[in-house]
Parts: sequence; structure tokens; C-alpha cells
Amino acid sequence: MRGAVLNSIEDARLVIRDDVAVVGPGADEVLIGIRAAGVCHSDLSARTGGLPLPMPGILGHEASGEVVAVGDGVTDLAPGDHVIASWLPPCGTCAPCRHGQPYLCFTHMVASYASPRFLVGGAPAYGMAGCGAFAEQMVVPRSGAVKIAADVPFEIAALVGCGVMTGVGAVINTARIEPGSTVAVVGCGGVGISAIQGARLAGAAAIVAVDINEAKRELARRFGATHAVHPDGLAALGREITGGDGVDYAFEVVGLPQTIRAAWKAARRGGTVVIVGAGRADQTVEFTPSELLFDGKRLLPSLYGSADVRRDYHRLLDLWRAGRLDLAGMITQRVTLEQVNEALDALGQGDVIRQVIDFG
Ligand code: NAD
Ligand code: ZN
Repeated sequence: MRGAVLNSIEDARLVIRDDVAVVGPGADEVLIGIRAAGVCHSDLSARTGGLPLPMPGILGHEASGEVVAVGDGVTDLAPGDHVIASWLPPCGTCAPCRHGQPYLCFTHMVASYASPRFLVGGAPAYGMAGCGAFAEQMVVPRSGAVKIAADVPFEIAALVGCGVMTGVGAVINTARIEPGSTVAVVGCGGVGISAIQGARLAGAAAIVAVDINEAKRELARRFGATHAVHPDGLAALGREITGGDGVDYAFEVVGLPQTIRAAWKAARRGGTVVIVGAGRADQTVEFTPSELLFDGKRLLPSLYGSADVRRDYHRLLDLWRAGRLDLAGMITQRVTLEQVNEALDALGQGDVIRQVIDFG
């Protein structure tokens, strides 16, 4: 089958190969035929080495498709079922799973980085975050495939698999904002636009879209932003619309030290700063001990929208069906697998929100 393979960070390009094969499905695993895959900034970060991935690697982790085959012990999925793939499938037994935090379970992800689920030209290759959706098929653990209704378009379903779950979940699961809250969202890509939509759903009174890209600031208004500003103007605007205090909730959806600081600065004393952006492990962001205590701000990490995907994918699709979540409007470009490098290059540029690879 075809797949987009990253051989090394130095290459900085994925190579489209037609000699890719899957390993499995073994017991408790599912083979998915990919029908649509979104292009997320985390894929770009994996291509540049900002997020870890064993090589050779197959990127792609925001995907939907059809079950092709199931391994021994999988009784509740069958070939032909439509599914969304989860890049953090819960194992059910680790400490976070036992504490009701399935979005922190790394068991299957770590396993996928230890035992390759692909072969490229007969040699072992690894899928990103337990997935590897930039290929025609991939194998995931049973809990990494969530069955959905067959009438949901695959490209809509794909977005739910990462960007939408992450952005909306950051607002409704992680921060649990109150109606009437004032909100700033720093970074208005696919994930940030989803956070803006989440804030609108949750009844925010003011939603400030913050982006260096003017086109993105304008687009953000379509999805619920009440104000839009360049990062340089954020602190002033935040104070202006809150009578000098700063916003109740600031969501950082870029993954840079300076945008984390910008979100911190935008939040009022006693407000909440939510980290959604996936920054590099070799960068640091500084806080003084004094501000950490005396500003009284809460700093909340939000991995995968603090989701339980078995519940939350369906919640999001129900909101989409009810016309309260605009997912079609977030798909700004459709591309082929052969165009994946150009799609990664285009992230953050122009009017790109989400590009979806159509596998037909
Ligand atoms: P994207 O590239 O589509 O969007 C990023 C946006 O940030 C762009 O609009 C860009 O113009 C803007 N931006 C860049 N630098 C900026 C700056 N200095 N100030 C303000 N805006 C700036 O990315 P995306 O797919 O929406 O992903 C956003 C982030 O979320 C990435 O770091 C990604 O890895 C991360 N992510 C995290 C999770 C999670 O579980 N927490 C899941 C998915 C993605
Ligand atoms: Zn993602």
C-alpha cells in the first residue's frame, strides 16, 4: 500500500512509498482502512523533530476510516464499521486510567514506539503516536478505534480525532469555563478555532482570537470570536474588555515560550491559563516564584482535550449534527497523500485551518 514515510529529521520531507505494509492486526488490535486524515501541527512538529518519533516513521494521527479486519478477542467491531482513531487509547489499568484520566495513558503509545506496526520495503517502521494515518491502512489497539454512525462524512469524523477534540475539550473538559466568561485563544489554527467554538458553545461572553496571521484573525470571527488581535495588542485589549483586569481564561494553542507568557499575561489575577500547544522538550519558559504564587493564576495542561474519547467523540458529533459545531467550515483544503509535504509546509499560512487528505 501507499504511505508517507519520514526517514530522518534531516530529510525534512516525507517520501511517498508504495511498498508499505502493516504488521497485524494481532490480538486485541484493529486494522483500519484510512479514508480521511487531517493535517495537524503536531505532524509538522514530528517532521521537524519537535515531537519525538522513532524512525523510519509514518506520521498522521487525526483520522477516520473503515474497519478492514479485527484480531483475536475483538468482538465489538467488525469489518465495515466506521471508526475514528484515537492517538491516546486508554489501557484501562495504568495509574492515570485508574484515576479517570484516560487522556494521560501512554501505555499503547509507548508500546507502538517499541514494536513497529509498519514495514517499509520489508524493514520495520513506526507509526506516529500509535497511529500512522498518512498511509492507506494502519493497525491500532482495540481502544484506539471508536465506532461512529456510518452517515458521518469521513472528513468530518477525521477532524474530531484530534484538532476538534483537543480544542473543544480544552474548554469544556479541562477548563470547564462558566457561561459569561471572558476568554482569549492564542493561536487560531485547527485546534485554536476549535477552542473558540468550544468557548462559544460554553457561553463565553467575550472571545478574543489572537494570531500573528491577519487572515486567521478574520476567520476566527466566523467561528465565534468577538474580538481579534495581534499578540502585541492582546494585553491591552484584554484589559480593555474586562475593565482592566484581564481575561478569565487564556488558552495557549501554539506551543511556544512567548505565547505561553502572552497567555499568562492576558489572564486576570485568579484566572486560568490552559496549555494546549505542544511545545518542544528543549525549550523553556520562565516564571518567577513570586508570580506563580501571588498572581493566583491556575496553569492547566490540556492533553487531548482531557477527553474520554468513548464519550466525547459522540458528544462532538451530536453537537455537529445539531448545527452547533461547524466542522465543514474548518476544512479549508482537500489534498492527496502525494501533496502531504506541501500541506505540512502550509500550516499556519494564509487561510489554512484544516487540510484533509482524502483517501477516496
Ligand atoms: P496550526 O499550525 O494550524 O495553527 C497555529 C496557529 O498559531 C496559526 O494560525 C499561526 O498563525 C499561529 N501562530 C504561530 N505563531 C504565533 C505567535 N507567536 N503568536 C500567535 N499566533 C501564532 O496548528 P494546530 O494544528 O492548530 O495546532 C496548534 C498547537 O496545538 C500545536 O502546537 C499542536 O502541536 C498542538 N496540539 C496539541 C494537542 C494536545 O493534545 N494538547 C493536540 C493537537 C495539537
Ligand atoms: Zn493533532
